[in-house]
Amino acid sequence: MSVKAKKHLGQHFLKDENIASKIADTLSYNGYEFILEIGPGMGVLTKYLLKKNATTFVIEIDTESVAYLKAHYPDLTNNIISEDFLKWQPQGVFESSQFSIIGNFPYNISSQIVFKTLDLRAFIPEFAGMFQKEVAQRICAQPGSKIYGILSVLTQAFYEAKYCFTVPPSVFNPPPKVDSGVLLLTRRSNFNLSCDEMLFFKVVKTAFQQRRKTLRNSLKTLNLSDNLKANTIFGQRPEQLSVNEFIELTKAIEQDRT
Ligand code: SAH
Repeated sequence: MSVKAKKHLGQHFLKDENIASKIADTLSYNGYEFILEIGPGMGVLTKYLLKKNATTFVIEIDTESVAYLKAHYPDLTNNIISEDFLKWQPQGVFESSQFSIIGNFPYNISSQIVFKTLDLRAFIPEFAGMFQKEVAQRICAQPGSKIYGILSVLTQAFYEAKYCFTVPPSVFNPPPKVDSGVLLLTRRSNFNLSCDEMLFFKVVKTAFQQRRKTLRNSLKTLNLSDNLKANTIFGQRPEQLSVNEFIELTKAIEQDRT
């Protein structure tokens, strides 16, 4: 018996073994002991992870998939977390150990998975995953591009983002309506920003909420001095700024407030 695909859980099961193996090969398995697979479903990717030099845990929200995994992968039984990844905290399982994340993600929550990873960045040195292609491209986008936005700037501030390969709908059951893309994020060696990180998140989000406006207009709610707003950077639109320029902007705002 196999698991019946449930739409509300974003279930599209991968049926191509070569692609499953290729996704498992994107991580380096270097510098950490644990891997956490999000949404293993029937374990197509999991079986390749179990062959790697790391201890695999999986987190799965669907109880039918959990029962399937227990029946088919007895070695995994003690490492199955039957929970919603978006509500989960790593401390109970990994304490303060480093772990990498991998998965063929449910597309309806893939951006939220990335934001949660950014929150947990101190624990997560590497992250490999299959996304809707357009979301993977947005994460990797560079300044000046139409798809460069909050997800690109916040992710690239802490991680190097690499688009690995595209996967067509035909290799899934049921097939999704869109192409998929596999992405690798590698945490930067110095992932502490040289500015107030909370303020950085706020500046980036506020600026992109009105992406066609200049920063002078979109950042009005931050109550900046006229002196600071006279700086030429405020004449730009958010999509023109690199990650480093957002960091410099945050520093200038920090100083303006003191
Ligand atoms: N990795 C499998 C399944 C991919 S479909 C494969 O490639 O075939 C996405 C999987 O994510 C499903 O098994 C779904 O039940 C699971 N899922 C959906 N939302 C989740 C959540 N919030 N937390 C954990 N798993 C979730």
